[in-house]
Amino acid sequence: MLSQVIELIETKRRFAITSHIRPDGDSLGSSLGLYWLLRALGKEVEVIMRDPVPHAYSKLPGAADVRITPAVDRDYDAVFVIECSDIERPGLKGLDKQFVVNIDHHSTTALFGTVNWIDSTASAVGEMIYNLCKAIGVRVTREIAECIYTALVTDTGSFHYSNTTERTFKIASELVRAGVKPAKVAENVFNSHPWSKLDLLTQVLSTLKRDPSGRVAWMRQTLEMKESAGAFEEDGDGFVNYPLSVGCVEAVAFLKECAPGVYRASLRSKGNVNVARVAERFGGGGHRNAAGCTLRGGWEEIERTIVQALIEAVEREAEDTPRRPLLIFDDQEALPEEVA
Ligand code: 5GP
Ligand code: MN
Repeated sequence: MLSQVIELIETKRRFAITSHIRPDGDSLGSSLGLYWLLRALGKEVEVIMRDPVPHAYSKLPGAADVRITPAVDRDYDAVFVIECSDIERPGLKGLDKQFVVNIDHHSTTALFGTVNWIDSTASAVGEMIYNLCKAIGVRVTREIAECIYTALVTDTGSFHYSNTTERTFKIASELVRAGVKPAKVAENVFNSHPWSKLDLLTQVLSTLKRDPSGRVAWMRQTLEMKESAGAFEEDGDGFVNYPLSVGCVEAVAFLKECAPGVYRASLRSKGNVNVARVAERFGGGGHRNAAGCTLRGGWEEIERTIVQALIEAVEREAEDTPRRPLLIFDDQEALPEEVA
């Protein structure tokens, strides 16, 4: 709960923050937002990750301070674990021996922390870090604002996804007031890629297939494609969204070979089609419209299995009605002044 998180921050001194392997915009933006928040309170804090900061997030304030380590190798009063479904997701040895604070916006998360603060109505953990700033009385500095804005803009697909709410826009508006330049963030995150990303994309798009209805689409990235494009690990990020741009497509799988016979599946859907349930069936998880899992075996079998599961999900849509978000703002109320 938020009140427990505040009490912990107020009474303890040495903190670490971590997030999942292969960190993305929300994991890095939220981790670094919390980092600046704790520094503003005079706390000792570091962000530790198993994997390096991808190029797209290298300009985030504090990105250069992120320490890459395979284990929790120092003493902390508490370790904040940002947007992780379980204690294994950060990939850090020794994390299970720590006092862990689990901060997440996935409803499928395990309550693995000593303290668990989960808000599945938040579009990104970034929204929760913003709320924490307000609740604990830390001024939203430009650094904090840039980090949180990056979390919001990436986890909402530039405010396109259904997790985007009135609250998301109100927070984004305040972050701009606090000094964020949306065009600069967009340039850093979306328009600073190396050529290898497009070289890889042309190969991946050539594998695009669809079912007879045209509602389910899938594509594949092999180790060979990555090699021939000279691509970085993160270059495939975002590819899964291309098939979604077709009007009748309702569910997409992007299957990326990460070791021989091992495929990371990125699943996306529109509306009420629930891909989190598909991912959970294969030991993964995520949100209704964005989820992931790992599949092992021969390509033909993996393809048949995941495509069948997506077709079933599309046919079964309309089972879940989304939850309404909590509104922290009231329309009658003036926006808080202290962000300037
Ligand atoms: P992506 O396709 O971008 O890797 O992941 C999409 C969403 O699914 C993210 O919200 C992510 O947290 C979740 N996700 C991806 N892979 C896994 C997984 O292996 N396990 C769980 N629990 N969630 C995952
Ligand atoms: Mn997130």
